[in-house]
Formats: sequence, C-alpha cells, structure tokens
Amino acid sequence: MLRSGITNYQCFSYILTIFMLPITFSAVWPIFTPYLSVAFVVIFIYIYILVIILTIKDSCVPELTRKTKEENFVRKKFKSEPGRHVIENSKCNICEITVQKETKHCKRCNYCVAKFDHHCVWLNNCIGEANYRLFMLLIISMSFIAFCTFIISSYILIAWFSRSKNGLVSINYDNEWTWMRILWVVSAAVCVFVYFFTFVTTTHLLYFHIRLYKLGMTTYKFIVSKRRAKVGHIGQISTVSQTNTRTYSQA
Ligand SMILES: [Zn+2]
Ligand SMILES: [Zn+2]
Repeated sequence: MLRSGITNYQCFSYILTIFMLPITFSAVWPIFTPYLSVAFVVIFIYIYILVIILTIKDSCVPELTRKTKEENFVRKKFKSEPGRHVIENSKCNICEITVQKETKHCKRCNYCVAKFDHHCVWLNNCIGEANYRLFMLLIISMSFIAFCTFIISSYILIAWFSRSKNGLVSINYDNEWTWMRILWVVSAAVCVFVYFFTFVTTTHLLYFHIRLYKLGMTTYKFIVSKRRAKVGHIGQISTVSQTNTRTYSQA
C-alpha cells in the first residue's frame, strides 16, 4: 500500500460498522430464524469485504504502482508551493510520471489518480478510475441494506410498543422491564436512527452520482465548475457595481 496512517473519520466508520453487527443482532432477535441470522452475517461480511478492498487497494495510476514495485521508486513528500502546480505540462513532479488530462494528484494520498472523482475521508482513499465501480457498488448495497434494516427494526419496535393495544404482532414478551428488555429497546432505537441516517445519506449520494453521470462529470469537475460559476457571478456583481460607481461619479 502506497498510503500510511489512519484518519479520525476512518476510525469512526470502522468502529461504527463493527459495533452495528451485535447491535443489529440484538435488535432483530425477536424475529430471528436460522436463515435470517445467516443472512445478516453474510450481508455484514459482504460490506466489510467491500470496505476493506476499497481501503487497502491503492487507486493510483498503474504506472506509479509498476514504478514503485519494479524500480523501488520513492515519492517526495507533498509540499504546497503557492503558484506552482504538482502536475505541470502533463508531468507530475512528485510521482515523476506523464499523466492523462483527467488525472489529479491527491495531496492526502500523495499519488496521481486517473479520472479523479474525490478523496473519500471515510475510506481514506481516493475514488477514481481504478475503484469507482466498486465504490458505487458499496453505496448501492449500503442504501438497500440500510433501508431494509430500518424497516425491520422500526416494525419490531412499533409492534412491541403497540402490541398491548391492538395485538399487532406475536412477539412473546411479557410487560416486565428487565435489563435484557431495556438493552433490546435501546438496540432497536439505535438501529432505527443509524439505518435511517445511513439510508438518507447513501441515497442522496447515489442520486448525486446519477446526476453527475447524466452531466458526464466527476465530483471534482462538478465542484470546480460550481466554484468557477460562483467566482464568475461575483465578478459580474463587481463589474456591475464598478459600472454603477462610475455612473454615479459621472453624475
Ligand atoms: Zn502525482
Ligand atoms: Zn486521496
């Protein structure tokens, strides 16, 4: 791996993902069957595998990987120099390779990424040509799984609280508030909150990437175009205000 270190965002996402497995089990156990428990374990392992691949696999241009392995090439440390770009005349000064037009040098990963989309702080890796499809698979999977788990945990929780009134479900519970009961209610509530939040954020991200696909843009290009439009707008306002000032002065 050409990157090192672990970020706070990455730590948070790992801890949350690891803790959500026992919490989810604890929340949905009233409707557990052997098939459902196996399904949950398989789903979690599937998500872990995607996250591990996206974290471990470098998304740099293949030429840099080859150069590092075969020629024991060591990159210089990234240093921001005002007025100077890392890539000049299609040549990266740090990776020391010739790059394509849509390649960008990420200062956090400190390597060149073909068709650079963005640097994901949760995975601490860049998303680009090498891993974009896998990243989208993770987002789609997370959105779908979060939606299903949100529905299941909400249903169980609502069913438990409303059972005494209308007998909505056949969960075999008595009315006693034991520690196990409290733990279960807290787990179910955490699941409802976490999976709803995950569903909303991943679906929004998915919608954003569908829009980008239609526009034929990457996230990076989209942000740059927005910034340019903003600067252009401010430029227009200042031109207008300058004209107005001149008009007023002349008057
Ligand atoms: Zn580079
Ligand atoms: Zn990066």
